Amino acid sequence: MQLRMEFADASAYKSASQKIRVLTESWVQAWAYCPACGTSINKAPNNQPVLDFSCPNCGEGCELKSKKTSFGAKIVDGAYANLRYRSSTSW
Ligand SMILES: [Zn+2]
Repeated sequence: MQLRMEFADASAYKSASQKIRVLTESWVQAWAYCPACGTSINKAPNNQPVLDFSCPNCGEGCELKSKKTSFGAKIVDGAYANLRYRSSTSW
């Protein structure tokens, strides 16, 4: 796994949050593995609540959190009701 982030082309985006989303999604797609089984994960279709990546081997789902500054003690969850629903059903 390469820890250094490649700088994908995010010049089409103006906001910092959109740029970091594009950069981190590109890095995860290239280098991250499923936390459950270790298989390379795939980007989920857009607009899937609390699901950014999924594992083609075991079906585990992952949500990517990114921000332009350091993470603090809390990570804001934008869709708690959907996360609870997803947790009670299969990904
Ligand atoms: Zn997996």
